[in-house]
Amino acid sequence: MEAPEPPMRRPAVPAADALIGVRRPLLSHGFVVLVDYMGDDAAVVQAARVSYGAGTRTVRDDRGLIRYLLRHGHTTPFEMVELKFLIRLPIYIARQWIRHRTASVNEYSARYSVVPDEYELPAPGEVHRQSARNRQGRGEPLDLAVGESFRADVDRISQEAYQAYQRALSQGVARETARMLLPVSFYTQWYWKVNLHNLFHFLSLRLDP
Ligand SMILES: Cc1cc2nc3c(=O)[nH]c(=O)nc-3n(C[C@H](O)[C@H](O)[C@H](O)COP(=O)(O)OP(=O)(O)OC[C@H]3O[C@@H](n4cnc5c(N)ncnc54)[C@H](O)[C@@H]3O)c2cc1C
Repeated sequence: MEAPEPPMRRPAVPAADALIGVRRPLLSHGFVVLVDYMGDDAAVVQAARVSYGAGTRTVRDDRGLIRYLLRHGHTTPFEMVELKFLIRLPIYIARQWIRHRTASVNEYSARYSVVPDEYELPAPGEVHRQSARNRQGRGEPLDLAVGESFRADVDRISQEAYQAYQRALSQGVARETARMLLPVSFYTQWYWKVNLHNLFHFLSLRLDP
């Protein structure tokens, strides 16, 4: 059995390099930014040719092989590629995101640090009614008046909560206790490292309308 030689230098993907450090805004105060990555198409192909040598003999070019792997559910070669992101997101979304157990996460600690005064505030036109068909989804946008009133409620409650949080801290309440005053509209931040296979799985679940 002949194993292909591994590359001696770290492979670079120009399209990924161009994304490193570029913050893509998300909601009111959030962002997603690629911090680092490991691996490229060649890493997937190299792993596949080791693992599935006989099965891939007829697929000669890399693009064709990658498509073959995806079509046949040969997923482990995609685990050779890793991506690390820094993400700032509201706590109510983070609670859903963290359910994806196959990523590695380090989150901003509200026990060590003071939570910044940043909370999600939807634009009035982005407040939708409950979907009639999907019990866990949104339907059509509501009237602007309803959106404005909802936004005003979020704003008022979040501000009051943050004032109470600051008051508690100033009175000496421990940060790990004071944080219970903050609603899930507030933002958290984490490093999120995931391999390409698990990223595909995450996207297939979370981008499914
Ligand atoms: C639209 C939507 C609605 C949801 N609603 C709810 C809800 O109401 N309540 C709720 O609690 N959750 C809800 N979830 C979360 C959902 O149940 C999953 O926890 C989440 O989508 C992560 O999926 P996953 O386990 O496949 O992913 P990962 O955690 O990334 O795991 C990937 C795969 O690894 C395997 N795996 C990982 N850990 C284990 C394990 N311990 N045992 C066995 N196999 C494992 C499984 O094959 C799994 O598919 C919802 C998710 C979506 C997308």
